[in-house]
Amino acid sequence: MKRFRNKLTIIFLLIVGLSVIGLGIFTANYLKNSQIETMKEGMVREMTLILAAVTWSGNSDLEEAIHYFESEAQRFKEYATTRFTFIDTQGNVLGDTEENAWEMDNHIDRPEIQEAYETGMTASSIRYSDTLKQEMLNVAMPVYDGDQLVGFLRSGLALSGVNETVSRVWTYYIVGLIVLFLLSGMVSYWVARGLTRPLENMTRVAKQITKSNDQSRVTIIRQDEVGELGKAINTMAQGLQDQMRRIAENEGRLKTVLENLISGVILIDCKQRISFVNKAAEEIVGNAAEAMAEKTIDHAGIEQRDFLEMIRQGMEQKEADSKEMIFHYPSERTLEINFVPLFQGELWAGAIVVLHDITAIKRLERMRSEFVANVSHELKTPIASIKGFTETLLAGTVEDTETAKSFLQIIYDESERLNRLILDILQLSEIESKRAPLFFSPIELGEFINRTLQMLDNEARRKEVRLEADVEENTYIEADEDRLRQVLINLLSNGIQYSPRGSIVKVEIQPLTVSDEPELDKIRIRVSDSGMGIPKKDIPRIFERFYRVDKARSRRSGGTGLGLSIVKHIVELHQGTINIESEVGVGTSFIIDLPVIQHHS
Ligand code: ADP
Repeated sequence: MKRFRNKLTIIFLLIVGLSVIGLGIFTANYLKNSQIETMKEGMVREMTLILAAVTWSGNSDLEEAIHYFESEAQRFKEYATTRFTFIDTQGNVLGDTEENAWEMDNHIDRPEIQEAYETGMTASSIRYSDTLKQEMLNVAMPVYDGDQLVGFLRSGLALSGVNETVSRVWTYYIVGLIVLFLLSGMVSYWVARGLTRPLENMTRVAKQITKSNDQSRVTIIRQDEVGELGKAINTMAQGLQDQMRRIAENEGRLKTVLENLISGVILIDCKQRISFVNKAAEEIVGNAAEAMAEKTIDHAGIEQRDFLEMIRQGMEQKEADSKEMIFHYPSERTLEINFVPLFQGELWAGAIVVLHDITAIKRLERMRSEFVANVSHELKTPIASIKGFTETLLAGTVEDTETAKSFLQIIYDESERLNRLILDILQLSEIESKRAPLFFSPIELGEFINRTLQMLDNEARRKEVRLEADVEENTYIEADEDRLRQVLINLLSNGIQYSPRGSIVKVEIQPLTVSDEPELDKIRIRVSDSGMGIPKKDIPRIFERFYRVDKARSRRSGGTGLGLSIVKHIVELHQGTINIESEVGVGTSFIIDLPVIQHHS
């Protein structure tokens, strides 16, 4: 910008200098010419006067003429301001105010004489005179006697005065020029700076914006085109800033989405480098994102060989691929891996690898098919037994009515079990599918428990088990009454079944105050027996469908293996929790915590 400013100043000065010099030359010339013109006029006037005072004696003797004109010349010398020379038509000098005419050479070849001779009119020339050692203006006037040319009167005047004037003018001009130079230098520097300073400012701002300091703005002081440019730059910067912000926002949003996606996402660029790994991927692969970022896939520390091989192949073939894989590290899980090549237009830009954890889905799938298998199996056993005994009876081979009766009893029991099984399955599927909504109502637990115990009275009596309840009066809970009763029946009948004769199965209700907020209050329902207990290793699986600790025993007692599954589902639908405390040979307690008030979402 400095260079531009200097150039501008120099150009300005050059223009000023040249025009001043040009003007000087013109003025000096004009001055000189007009002075010379004035001098000429004065000389002609003097010459005319002198001519009127002398008598030109035409063709008389040269010597005589010289005598006469020399004396005349001496006479005029006193009054004349210029030098006069009298010359005859042949060019002989007849008299001169400055020199001796006798000694002077012929003047016919002097330009002014020549011209006057040829034109017959007054002529002039400017010459350097060797005699007087200076520039002279010479004016020659032809002298006529009637029509006859008789000679010339020449007048000469040194031009030193004129030249002095001209050089004085030049001195003034040069002094003026210097002053003008200084002034205009200052002015142009100031003007240029005024022009370049905002430009410098803009350049700085533009550079800063490029360096992504997009807060930078041009300070606008001027109202002209430069100011307009500044405004335009500011608008541009603002636009740029807005756009940058929008881009950053979008990027942030995209990143948040990717980062929080449940599926793992790994981005690989076209140079096989990992450019992005989200949290889920980090966890699935078992390797920190920082450890993988910017590394090539081979050096990112991916332990899962099959997975690595799949990516390698995908990168090589640049084709989409989808595979199901089991990772054993860092934890056992089943994954669906999608490899998608990325193209920008025609250009290969890398790939995106998406990892879906399908462990849960797989487990569900497995459970479902297991369930179907289990159900078929569970149905098959009683049906087989019913079929077998019915066939035997139909064959008529059983004569003894006692035996026949016992067979019929078995058939009845088995069909009863079948019925229970089907009812349990229906109930479970109803609860699971959440088709049947819960009907919440306030329940007074004292009365509720007593009535439930009455329903199990026969069963308990048969096994000689005593049922006890410990409930404070006026304890209320909000629940679906039928379902809550199902929970209690299932737990209590388990207690009855898996306890020895003469033991006690107990229901205790205990209000739990969790915090200051009564809304969060809970009720604890504890169903305990002093029966055979459940081994530790079976406890985690006890709520699975059809899971039994002792298959034969459960069958004998008529269990379906679905009771606890149903219990757990119902408790969860009430936003409650269920826990087991059990010791083999000592007894089992089921502890259910339910919120007093249901928070409907
Ligand atoms: P079942 O119809 O076989 O009782 P459940 O789902 O109710 O099916 O129970 C699953 C298994 O849990 C039972 O087969 C039994 O082995 C065990 N179990 C349940 N309750 C008790 C208990 N109170 N004491 C000991 N074992 C129990």
